Amino acid sequence: MPDRSYLRWPFLDDAHRALTGELDAWAAAEVGSLGEPDEATLHEHCRGLVSALADGGWLEPVVGAPIDVRALCLARETLAYHHGLADFAFAMQGLGSGAISLFGAGALRERYLPGVRDGRLIAAFALSEPEAGSDVAAIATTARRDGDAWALDGEKTWISNGGLADFYVLFARTGQAPGARGLSAFVVDADAPGLRVAERIEVLAPHPLARLELDGCRVSGDRLIGAPGEGFKVAMATLDVFRPSVGAAALGFARRALDEALHRVSERELFGAPMAELQLVQAKVADMALGVDASALLVYRAAWTADVLGGRVSREAAMAKLHATETAQRVVDEAVQLFGGLGVTVGSVVERLYREVRALRIYEGASEVQRLIIARGALAAAAERHPQGATHV
Ligand SMILES: Cc1cc2nc3c(=O)[nH]c(=O)nc-3n(C[C@H](O)[C@H](O)[C@H](O)COP(=O)(O)OP(=O)(O)OC[C@H]3O[C@@H](n4cnc5c(N)ncnc54)[C@H](O)[C@@H]3O)c2cc1C
Repeated sequence: MPDRSYLRWPFLDDAHRALTGELDAWAAAEVGSLGEPDEATLHEHCRGLVSALADGGWLEPVVGAPIDVRALCLARETLAYHHGLADFAFAMQGLGSGAISLFGAGALRERYLPGVRDGRLIAAFALSEPEAGSDVAAIATTARRDGDAWALDGEKTWISNGGLADFYVLFARTGQAPGARGLSAFVVDADAPGLRVAERIEVLAPHPLARLELDGCRVSGDRLIGAPGEGFKVAMATLDVFRPSVGAAALGFARRALDEALHRVSERELFGAPMAELQLVQAKVADMALGVDASALLVYRAAWTADVLGGRVSREAAMAKLHATETAQRVVDEAVQLFGGLGVTVGSVVERLYREVRALRIYEGASEVQRLIIARGALAAAAERHPQGATHV
């Protein structure tokens, strides 16, 4: 029985506890025993997962107004525990539609959000480009006015659900100002003329990913999210909501790795006794359990701050993502170590987790970017407290 003591923490309320219990039971029964698809069946597999999640009513938290970040995180942790791609399918419905939920005009919300919630529409978030990953302000894709519409030219890469999505929330340069202040956010339908899936990208763990090309891609004027020039703000506010949930997914992987390891060390005999009796093994278990709880505290602190205190939560979100993803990598690695040869055997749970956890330290802002956000916030806060620079008193 997995440790669920965190559900009693004061960050959560009874509705969150109920959601987690019900989703956990659903996920164990419906997706827990699904295998990993290959590249050929990946899209079909993910479409099936979106439908199953919608039929179960589980996509509700991804399009709430406002989004319940604690529900989002609990759902991601729970789904990741059972099946990484179920978490991915759930998360992308949220990340891909989050900008519309947060900033979209009424007509945009009505056009897209019901379809996202009931699984008819698959969503994607298209920010990154070959020369603009960590450096979002370097986006080169342009959008120029063309009568009542916009014409988009450029390239997007590493786009999750690329080629599978029914629409993309896509960021392009409209030129109100240089750098970050000259970007705007659009909803681009997958069948928009001039949009092409140029390449599917295969990664370590199955994950629908593609590079997109835009060649005079026409987007009608009513598909702009927010005002021209607000794209960077739209992107960052969306990431503030979803970054803690990347931490939550990492937490789900880490918790699963810990549970697998606890089971293994209790069963496996080494030097005439269960492995769990070896103190070096206990030290690993202690570090893993501590890491999991510390990650959970940061993830649910960030989610609670977003839900209850409101406003921008960049600092809390960055801390949650950074700590939970880095820790999950170590926890999963220790689990593989404790399993010995079985740990690297293709098809074992910890071998799958080892591949699944890696990308989380890179996407939605690499760990280094999270450190910059945290450091800038700390320095700015110190400067505000001590305008003369006397930070040591
Ligand atoms: C599986 C996966 C799914 C993704 N899904 C999406 C998606 O749906 N939508 C989307 O828009 N993008 C997506 N991405 C792209 C992802 O957000 C970028 O890969 C990420 O932002 C890093 O950009 P980059 O790959 O261009 O690396 P670069 O920007 O070239 O950075 C390379 C490395 O440099 C380091 N680094 C970065 N900044 C600094 C710094 N200031 N100081 C020191 N070191 C630094 C980091 O370790 C980073 O990994 C996805 C990526 C992956 C791997």
